[in-house]
Amino acid sequence: MLGQMMTAPLLISSLVDHAARYHGQTEIVSVNTGGGTETVSWGSVARNAKALASALTGLGLSKQARCATIAWNNRRHLEIYFGVSGGGFVCHTINPRLFPEQLVYIINHAEDEVLFIDATFVPLVAAIRDQLTSLKHIVLLEARADEAAKTLPDIIAYDDLIASGDDRFEWPQFDELTASSLCYTSGTTGNPKGVLFSHRSTVLHSFACNLADSIGFSAMDVVLPVVPMFHVNAWGSPYACAMVGARMVLPGPGLDGPSLVALIDRHKVNIALGVPTIWMGLLGEAEKAGSSLESLRKTVVGGSACPPSMIKAFRDRYGVETLHAWGMTEMSPIGSVNQPLAKHLDLELDALHRLRENQGRPPWGVELAIVDDQGNPLPHDGKTQGELLVRGHFILDAYFRTSSEETLQNGWFNTGDVATLDPDGYLTICDRSKDIIKSGGEWISSVELENIAIAHPDLSDAAVIGARHPKWDERPVLVAVKAEGRNPTSDELLTIFDGKIAKWQTPDAVVFVDALPRNATGKVLKRDLRDTFANILMQ
Ligand code: ADP
Repeated sequence: MLGQMMTAPLLISSLVDHAARYHGQTEIVSVNTGGGTETVSWGSVARNAKALASALTGLGLSKQARCATIAWNNRRHLEIYFGVSGGGFVCHTINPRLFPEQLVYIINHAEDEVLFIDATFVPLVAAIRDQLTSLKHIVLLEARADEAAKTLPDIIAYDDLIASGDDRFEWPQFDELTASSLCYTSGTTGNPKGVLFSHRSTVLHSFACNLADSIGFSAMDVVLPVVPMFHVNAWGSPYACAMVGARMVLPGPGLDGPSLVALIDRHKVNIALGVPTIWMGLLGEAEKAGSSLESLRKTVVGGSACPPSMIKAFRDRYGVETLHAWGMTEMSPIGSVNQPLAKHLDLELDALHRLRENQGRPPWGVELAIVDDQGNPLPHDGKTQGELLVRGHFILDAYFRTSSEETLQNGWFNTGDVATLDPDGYLTICDRSKDIIKSGGEWISSVELENIAIAHPDLSDAAVIGARHPKWDERPVLVAVKAEGRNPTSDELLTIFDGKIAKWQTPDAVVFVDALPRNATGKVLKRDLRDTFANILMQ
């Protein structure tokens, strides 16, 4: 025997235990669903998580029973993250913005036995309750449930449930490959698909988040996850913050600009995470309110491409560094984060700023490759575009209730994105493969055109889609939302691309709409726009 190290399974319960042990007094600020704010601590979150795990164990649920949530970002939801998974059950977070039929499909497909809901969602659940075949218990995330019981007679109050548990409960120890949480993709095509995370993948993803070259949360930080806890576990931030004992500010239901600016200023938030649409509202509001977002140092932006104009606005107006991140539910979700390398410190400021616009480099645990449509590897030269494949420690092997053979391509997961990779691993997402515009055999990145359009002051929002064309198969069309008080013409808008892209990539036409259609996670529904405008160049 040469000797060896101790081993213990990598379990989610160990994260909250660590937070309670060494950061027990560190505050968690939580905006309540009914209004008002409460301040709790990692210590109380851990105690309630244990009490919840003990109470759930006493309910006689199936082994690895799925316990679902339809809830905002608040401290009870945080306790559920640790209590459900730590107790050996599977925490299934559900996006309330899905259509009711999709909610029914997801809850029945997952065979959820417990459903935790915020008061906001009582009517939503009451309307579908009789179709939820596996459900045994509904829990309201409040101190009392009398009011909700008028529409959902079997509902119980969260506080009563945890009062029936033991807050000194010993976390069960089990295999780290056990499933911990479940999240369905937004399902823009077909039914949503389940992505099942394990304890091991979640703990390793938390390490990857906390690398200095990734997001790198620390005990010095005050973290505001604006990204919902039902959107890929708020990008894993609750687990990663517990790992380092960061302070968290959980914004509850108010994700509008004024509420966020007030929260950031009041609680001295220094890192906030969210999708670009949310930040558009915040930037507009901060300007109106005259806030300088004094405490804010970093924003982590992902979920859709972050327009360079937004990175610039954060940097120039507020001194805030944007970490542009890319990922997907299937990757837990972090696939890359934009951080510079030592050699970039010598770059001219303009060049450094340009470098910070792409989707960044993968952290340890993620490997990226690009291939052609036959699956042949393509060079990482920063120019060649290909289908982006990924593999790694926290990347999906098989969708829930399917096999790896159905999910993977030679051991890699195909992201459905078209991208370039440079020799240092910097990733530039050109488009989703179904959104890229194929004009006479050449590809045009809709994202690149959108970034130019969104930066223009006459527009408040923009999308570019491929419309059918008699000669070129497809040509780009700009779908534009005018900014308040502005009235640009189509011809004026088409000139904004001059000198920024090759002439032949300029859109053929502009259509104006009042708002862009978006899916449940804030992404533009390009398929809907294509359905509406596919033939406008054919007349
Ligand atoms: P999620 O629910 O995690 O957003 P989806 O599967 O709905 O997962 O979306 C993942 C997709 O979102 C990626 O494949 C990519 O097309 C897009 N995406 C995410 N982040 C970025 C980004 N920073 N830039 C461009 N596209 C992005």
